[in-house]
Amino acid sequence: MERTHIEADKTIAKRANLQSYENTKELFTWDHALQELSQAPSGKWNAAYECIDRHVAEGYGDKKALLFTDGDHDETFTFAEVKHITDGYAHVLKESGVKVGDRVFIFLPKSPACYFTILAAIKAGAIAGPLFEAFMEDAVRERMQDCEAQYLITDENLVKRVPFDDVPSLLKTWDIEEFDREAQQYEDADSPIVWLDEQDGMLIHYTSGSTGKPKGVLHAQKVLPHHLITGKYVLDVHDDDVYWCTSHPGWVTGSVYGVFAPWLNRATVVIHGGRFDAKEWYSLIERFGVTIWYSAPTAFRMLMSEGDLYKDFNLTSLRHLLSVGEPLNPEVIYWAKDVFNARIHDTWWMTETGGHLIVNFPSALIKPGSMGRAFPGVTVGILDENNEPLPANEVGKLAVKAPWPGLMKEIWKNKEKFDSYFTDNGWYLSGDTARIDEDGYVFFEGRDDDLIKTAGEQVGPFEVESKLIEHPAVAEAGVIGKPDELRGHIIKAFITLRHGYSDYDGLTEEIRQFVKTKLAAHAAPREIEIVEELPKTKISGKILRRLLKQQEIEKMQKEVASEWQKKNA
Ligand code: ATP
Ligand code: MG
Repeated sequence: MERTHIEADKTIAKRANLQSYENTKELFTWDHALQELSQAPSGKWNAAYECIDRHVAEGYGDKKALLFTDGDHDETFTFAEVKHITDGYAHVLKESGVKVGDRVFIFLPKSPACYFTILAAIKAGAIAGPLFEAFMEDAVRERMQDCEAQYLITDENLVKRVPFDDVPSLLKTWDIEEFDREAQQYEDADSPIVWLDEQDGMLIHYTSGSTGKPKGVLHAQKVLPHHLITGKYVLDVHDDDVYWCTSHPGWVTGSVYGVFAPWLNRATVVIHGGRFDAKEWYSLIERFGVTIWYSAPTAFRMLMSEGDLYKDFNLTSLRHLLSVGEPLNPEVIYWAKDVFNARIHDTWWMTETGGHLIVNFPSALIKPGSMGRAFPGVTVGILDENNEPLPANEVGKLAVKAPWPGLMKEIWKNKEKFDSYFTDNGWYLSGDTARIDEDGYVFFEGRDDDLIKTAGEQVGPFEVESKLIEHPAVAEAGVIGKPDELRGHIIKAFITLRHGYSDYDGLTEEIRQFVKTKLAAHAAPREIEIVEELPKTKISGKILRRLLKQQEIEKMQKEVASEWQKKNA
């Protein structure tokens, strides 16, 4: 049977918050958002109030807001408890002089305190800057320096990686335990909420650094309707859902879809402290009865390479899964359908876009290999080199008609960079290459820089990688264009093997033939190298093709140099 699409499950579709994609043109309207949000009487608002305090005011104080586990111990917090804690924290910040627009950095492991301090910074009117817990000194320095951080909340372990002498803007640093103690004195204080304008800053996130130096993306309070509405329709949160997003708030997915979108929709949110561990993850789903699960292709591929492990767990609570950050290989979707009896819904967006722009809904058909369709109200286009729209099925630059609610406010103090995203005729350029089929489904080809020109043909790395991992021995693949005198570039694949497989004579040739017969002769990698692991971005686990290519070129240069030395010795 040809595998081209998967229909929505009827029972699930019937309950979905979005019933019909076809008849829905506009979801991002202020009216729509305001039905859900309770703005302050002054007409100003605050994202943290809308995430937590509003639910308490509306009588949901006893509902569970947060379930935390680090594998050893669990903690539970209701919305009322979260309100109480974040109120106290916000008071400490305000008393210490934090003002609207100040940058409060949060450098904590994935834990309730990390979520609470982010909300508290926003309650106090500041811009929250969450840092990923695995960042080492250079990464911390680069980010805190770039946006002149003034406040920092961290813990006794991570503080060792803060280069204080290099961040002269820093006014105060708290250890989280000390911070928590300071908050006790505000037990009975009034609400600390600072009401804000929609253009006031809310979050600063640095991009993943897949293509170069991370950019400091500032989002303003106006991003709120985007979070709210995509949370409602794409995450498809209902009151009885248990929602788990695996990423740390240091990556934009971990804050927008880990903190804001779910809590704006009153979801019960799960946090797992610690790193990826297949057994622990499966057991968490079973124990907490997770119904909606948001993760990334790399995590799904790692679970897939664990084989039958899933059989030891009851995973029937899962209603649907979501993926983001990297192309989601069709093989992974079919695997998930088998083992979870649920679909993975791919979502496409960027740190800069503030929220989902291309999505799949639980009520609609999905086409594995496609990232989905434009969120209703968003116009997505494929442009040629003159930034003019191309017809269906032609490959070109993936662009979005600007603006939309979540669009970034600025790249921190870099107007030139910000301006470079926009064309004269009103498009936002994503830096990705894609095509859109006649039904509006968008197919990712690669980053603009990753496309491979080989012997006159253009090849997207994603298609080759997806075919490679269909081979039973291949767990993950990173494909690059390796410079070649004759062909311009040749396709080179770096692969890791699935558990239980080891290299044997003829394996790489067998894999090459597999791609050649199943995809296309010109797309089959001329070189396949088996590696222990692929280089990935720290915060979002994306395969760093840029680095693979750079290393390959350096290797070639060394070879040329040593040849030359031999000849001229
Ligand atoms: P940098 O901008 O620093 O190079 P980055 O682009 O990886 O890093 P993010 O904002 O985390 O930073 O990621 C956005 C990019 O991730 C998109 O431009 C796209 O290349 C990729 N991406 C996101 N979602 C998907 C998806 N569903 N399928 C394929 N690629 C995706
Ligand atoms: Mg980017």
